Amino acid sequence: MERLDGKKVADALHAQTARVVAALKQQQHEAPLLVAVLVGNHAASETYVASKIKACERAGIASRLVRLPETTTQAELLAILADLNADADVDGILVQLPLPSHISETAVIEATHPAKDVDGFHPENMGRLAKNLPALAPATPAGIVAMLAHYGIETKGKTCVVVGRSNVVGTPISLLMSQNRPQGNCTVITCHSHTVDLPRYTQMADILIVAAGKPGLIGKEHVRPGAVVIDVGIHRIDAPDLPRGYRIVGDVAAEQLTDMSGWLSPVPGGVGPLTIASLLQNTLQAYSRRRGIALPNV
Ligand code: NAD
Repeated sequence: MERLDGKKVADALHAQTARVVAALKQQQHEAPLLVAVLVGNHAASETYVASKIKACERAGIASRLVRLPETTTQAELLAILADLNADADVDGILVQLPLPSHISETAVIEATHPAKDVDGFHPENMGRLAKNLPALAPATPAGIVAMLAHYGIETKGKTCVVVGRSNVVGTPISLLMSQNRPQGNCTVITCHSHTVDLPRYTQMADILIVAAGKPGLIGKEHVRPGAVVIDVGIHRIDAPDLPRGYRIVGDVAAEQLTDMSGWLSPVPGGVGPLTIASLLQNTLQAYSRRRGIALPNV
């Protein structure tokens, strides 16, 4: 299979974001401000937040990290969110998930102002997305759409099979692919953990998007030759033979697809890099809508 290079697409998106921010500054506008909230010392979350802040710096977006101890109560976190919601300088808020188990993620998502919800998780943004109204879309599905657009992959009239129905990936990407929009107009089948005979459906896919969180779930028998396969899963697998001791794999057993015709967005190097790029684009959208400033077309 030929490779869909997410890093290349992400670099193009980051460069575009940086051009827009530079043009805004040239017009004497303030830079957009993204605030990340990190509760506790979850190692992977530390890395994700650091990458997001670094990406902001590179693009010229102002950022702030609110670091809170593991013992922060839900009431304390909601009070901080209320302050950020009310702060006119703040354009985007992201609360890094997962949160400590004593804090309800739903409560936190619902307490983030929808206009600043750059993760696109608030029910208002999900509802607007479902109605195909302008919305802040979750970053990973938005990244998949950006990948399809970049490679000029025709979607209209195609069969798209999505494996997974989470609120973060499966459900929003199923909606986006079925809607009347440039990277949409597919006939969509959404599979999930209760789907009986998964290959029966995945074999029908012109575009197969896999977000099941199961390493190697999709093998050769699931894929029709010529398909476009987007692997969203990310897993760290022990690999004592490698110097760093682990390997990153996806939900697709990529080695089984090497000799097939078609396209594969691999793991790593596929959708992963696009998630942060889309988050920054959402920050620009939030800035533009909330402040009433048109984004320069650069
Ligand atoms: P999730 O656990 O919330 O949802 C998984 C979904 O897969 C569920 O809807 C479940 O019904 C379905 N499923 C599980 N086993 C299945 C099976 N055998 N057959 C069919 N469907 C099955 O996970 P998520 O948050 O949607 O994430 C999925 C994967 O994508 C994870 O590996 C996650 O780490 C990765 N992810 C990557 C990015 C990124 O690249 N930036 C972002 C988000 C998630």
